[in-house]
Amino acid sequence: MRLPRSVRDADVAGKTVLVRADLNVPLEDGRVADDTRIRASLPTLQLLLDGGASELRVCSHLGRPKNEDDRAKYAIAPVAARLRDLLPDERIRVLENTRFDPGETANDERYAHELAEGCDLYVNDAFGSAHRAHSSTEAVARLLPAYAGLLLLAELEHLGRLLGEIEHPFVLVSGGAKVEDKLGVLRNLGGRADAVLIGGKMAEKLRAGNPLDFDVELPVDVVGADEFARDAETRVYAYDQLPDGWLGLDIGPETRTRFVEWIESARTIFWNGPMGVFEWPAFAGGTEAVAEAVAANQAAFSVVGGADSVRALNELGLADRVSWVSTGGGASLELLEGKELPGVAAIPS
Ligand code: ADP
Ligand code: MG
Repeated sequence: MRLPRSVRDADVAGKTVLVRADLNVPLEDGRVADDTRIRASLPTLQLLLDGGASELRVCSHLGRPKNEDDRAKYAIAPVAARLRDLLPDERIRVLENTRFDPGETANDERYAHELAEGCDLYVNDAFGSAHRAHSSTEAVARLLPAYAGLLLLAELEHLGRLLGEIEHPFVLVSGGAKVEDKLGVLRNLGGRADAVLIGGKMAEKLRAGNPLDFDVELPVDVVGADEFARDAETRVYAYDQLPDGWLGLDIGPETRTRFVEWIESARTIFWNGPMGVFEWPAFAGGTEAVAEAVAANQAAFSVVGGADSVRALNELGLADRVSWVSTGGGASLELLEGKELPGVAAIPS
């Protein structure tokens, strides 16, 4: 995979640098609910400050503002305040939410010029937005000398390993609810995997008809629920014995054992998508079993992607026991589908 040139190779002394970061954090009551993404952007900012940059103009989108009323709701101020707490330096200036400008999502040249105005170079560290050709991720990279930030590069290097030569057995674990989003990755990587383990809603979909040209391991048993509710009545059934009207909301114990055995044997692992409705304790066991097995396999190169899978891993305190936790969401999936990301393509080698 082609890697864009690194911010480490940029001479930034005395320069004004436009940094596109991914500061799109969840907000609750106008406050930052989880600052993981802000923290993930710090190494690049620190590197630029250490390199003697005279000013950092940091920009990001935040949420999906649609109208004038959303301007208060998605103002960047609380994010800027948190960044200031984490990295107090008067050379850092945070620009307003890029999506407040209607030109942003249209990849508009005018808005790109506005962002570039007065800047000497551009650093893109927003891997999570790299699959979108927007003014702040694509058009602006053609107006200024462009470099890739440290987080962007680390994501490309780790995810890129799954696209290159891999050590076998390669075990791919997929689940969750957004089935269509994930089929492209299965199509691109699944043929090289020694086992493709499927849980979640994904399993129902593939059981109804497998559009892939390779075999997958589907659950042999499920945790059934008599309704879609946290306190539903539950019972384990063989996958084909679920009574009418019942729902399979987690993989069952026999399936867990099979999946864990595959994961224990693996030398390369990619996991994306929970095995069940892990938000409810009665249906969290399958996801926990997979998370624990992935974390326990220290001999494997292991990558976990997907907001909910990462959340499950974090809640179990296992995130630092896997090789790479991707912050990317849609960008990770598109990269692993084999697509070129516009925000990456716009940066020279
Ligand atoms: P990720 O964010 O890791 O990519 P998804 O967004 O595709 O994963 O799916 C996560 C969601 O899937 C969770 O909210 C979970 O409750 C739901 N889910 C998992 N298994 C099932 C199932 N069998 N039936 C309904 N929902 C499920
Ligand atoms: Mg999700």
